[in-house]
This record gives sequence, C-alpha cells and structure tokens, in this order.
Amino acid sequence: MSDVLPSEIAAWQRLESTARELFAAYGYREIRVPIVEQTALFKRSIGEFTDIVQKEMFTFVDPGGESLTLRPEATAGIVRAMITNGLLHNQKQRVWCGGPMFRHEKPQRGRFRQFHQLDVEAFGYAGPDIDAELIMMSARLFAKLGIERLVLNLNSLGTPESRRVYREQLVAYFSAHKAQLDADSLRRLETNPLRILDSKNPEMQELIAAAPAITEYLDAQSRAHFEGLCRHLDAVGIKYVVNPRLVRGLDYYTHTVFEWVTNELGAQGAVCSGGRYDGLVEQLGGKSTPAVGWALGEERIIELLKVQQGPTPPESPDVYFVISGAQAEAVGLTLAEKLRDELPQLRMETNCGGGSFKSQLKRADHSGARFALVLGDSEAERQVVGLKSLRVEAPQIELPWSEVAAELRSRLESTG
Ligand code: ATP
Ligand code: MG
Repeated sequence: MSDVLPSEIAAWQRLESTARELFAAYGYREIRVPIVEQTALFKRSIGEFTDIVQKEMFTFVDPGGESLTLRPEATAGIVRAMITNGLLHNQKQRVWCGGPMFRHEKPQRGRFRQFHQLDVEAFGYAGPDIDAELIMMSARLFAKLGIERLVLNLNSLGTPESRRVYREQLVAYFSAHKAQLDADSLRRLETNPLRILDSKNPEMQELIAAAPAITEYLDAQSRAHFEGLCRHLDAVGIKYVVNPRLVRGLDYYTHTVFEWVTNELGAQGAVCSGGRYDGLVEQLGGKSTPAVGWALGEERIIELLKVQQGPTPPESPDVYFVISGAQAEAVGLTLAEKLRDELPQLRMETNCGGGSFKSQLKRADHSGARFALVLGDSEAERQVVGLKSLRVEAPQIELPWSEVAAELRSRLESTG
C-alpha cells in the first residue's frame, strides 16, 4: 500500500476532476459506498472460484463475529446499495464511484494492495447502445487527458446458455490436452474453465490460441447485441480489436466485455476494463435488472500520463504574501483575509512564521507564484503594500491597501 504525496497529487487531481466533469456531462451521478462489506457479498457476486475471492481478499472477523472484507472492487457494493435503497424499482440509474480498493496481490509495478478505481455503472438498460456510450465515455476521458495509443479489446461472453455450451466445449478441449496444462489451469479446469484463457503463462499460449473461440458459440440474441455495439463504435470511429480470448477475471459478466490496454507499462497493461452483468442484480436478491459498467485503475493511468507526458506540474499559487516585521505581522493576515473576500478565486500563500525579506522572497520564488505582495513595517505604517512580478522583469510598485485587489484582478486576468 502506498502513500500519495503532495508532490504527486497534481496528476491525481487532474485525472479525478476531468473524470468527475465528464461523468456529470453524461448524466452519471456519484454514489459512495462503504469500503467494508460482508464477505458473503463478494463471494456471491465476484464468484467463489475467481482469483479475487480465492486469494486476493483482505478478510477479517469483526468484534461482533461477522466476516467482513475490504472491497476488492466497487460493483458488488454498488449493486447491494442499489437493491437495499430501492433504487432499481422501475428506474434506470447511471452512477459512478471512486476510491480505494484492496487486493492481497504480489506488489509490483502497476499492481498494489491498495489501489484506486474510478467506476461507472448503468442499471436498467438492456441494449447495446449503453454499452457503446460507456465505451465512448472512456474514450473521451482518455482523449481529454491526452493519453494515446490505447488499444480497445472487445468480446462477447453471450447469454448464460450460450456460455454453458461453450464451457462444455472448452472443458472437452482442455481435458484432451491435460498434460500441457499448468497447475493453475488444472485447478481452473474443474472450477472456472473460461479463466484458463486468461492465463499469463507463456508456455500455455499456444494451447490457448488453438482452443475453441466463444464467438462460434454465440446464439442469435448475443450476436445481435454484439453487432449492435460494434455498429455504434464504428459510427463514431472508435477502433477495437475483437479478442475472443478476453474473458475477464470476474464471474458475473454476460454479453459485452472489454479492456483498454497499453504496451507502455510493462506487464500490467490493462488500464480500464468492464462489461455487462445482466444476472448480478437478481443473483444478489434484487429484481432482474440489466446492468453494465467499467472500472479504471487510477495508478496505471497516472503512470501512463507520466510515461507519455512527463510529470504533471504542481499547482502554483498566484501570489505569495511576504510579511516581515512585528508591525507587518500584526496586520498581514487581516489584509490577506480582506483580499480573499474581494477575490474569491485568488490562490495566495501567506508567509506564516516570519523571516527576513530575503528568505521570504526565496520562498516566494520556490512557490511558483506569479506575484509577491511585500509587507514590511514601513509599508504597514503607511498602509501600502509592494507588488512584485516574480516571473517577468518589471519594476516593483507600491499600492494603497484599498487598491490591491483591483490591481491583482487585472494582472491575473492578463497572461504577462
Ligand atoms: P489485472 O488483469 O491487471 O489483474 P483485473 O482484471 O484484475 O486486472 P479489474 O478487476 O477489472 O482488473 O479492475 C479494473 C482495473 O483496475 C484494471 O484494469 C486495472 O487498471 C486496475 N487494477 C486491478 N487490480 C489492480 C491492482 N492490484 N493494482 C493497481 N491497479 C489494479
Ligand atoms: Mg487481477
């Protein structure tokens, strides 16, 4: 688990504020769900035989004897919240959620035990149009952030019926090649055979490539849904690769699954993944409700921003307020508060704790501020303040207190 330090926060805030505005623009409203849920919720939704449930959950018994788990993903909690708050009764819902998730994985580049996701979900929409909109929204987010060269992998897992037929074919195929399966895959053959396709073991890739493809087992309804989605994406020019081996790590998916991947982050290339999960609401005790969503890994997006664009510069104040001397200190903060009243957008760092002019001006320079306000005892006595440009060559001027706000306003509006 890692800290996000103030020196790194600019990229996080850029990602999160861009996403928040975009989600709102598409009509998605924020929901905040607990970080801790009953363990049974994740077992029932994510699936007993998934990696997450079998090896990655932080589970503990609370003082009341109940088994609880730190959320490894957001969808299960959101679905629970939708059901328990009655938000799905004859209603459609578009929601988003952000925050930390916890998985007990082997920490490495792009893989952490506490990581952060931005998660969007739509409930009550059965057609491929909403799948397409969700993907368009993710594409627009990446475009707004200036992220390039992501590849969209797309697949359909079909209906539970077509998936069952496919599953049988897959079991038959891998059973016939048992000798070539690694230990993980042998285990999955019994419990979750589709997940064998997800194996990262290089020695398994040839066998996997020759396995039957789910595409051939899709029924008419599944095919129509998938073709509908592809048509919408084609119409807006979003490119994708149909990848019949894309199965995703969670059990609850039906129809559409997708993943945005990059080859610029080493082994951990998936930056955003999602899909449709029409059976989950009912499975968790609600009325049958179609649903679809995606989750984005914030750490991976931030790392990719750094790789492609370099570090995001920290936000600098507009003004650094130098306050030096006993008389100046007596009135400095009051003057600063008055300026904040008059200029609500002003980003100003005041010098607290005293110090010489020289050392304070050095701090002003380090802060990245465009201007310094300079208040010494002599200025305080005459009720004036010095205004100094820190980034361009310009003479320092002196202003009466009553004129500072107007002068700052006009200077901050111009870009010089
Ligand atoms: P992976 O195949 O990399 O393990 P996943 O299929 O387990 O990913 P999801 O459960 O779909 O991932 O989560 C959505 C996104 O969250 C991923 O695409 C990835 O960007 C991010 N993510 C998942 N697990 C981690 C982790 N341990 N650390 C950092 N980011 C993660
Ligand atoms: Mg994983």
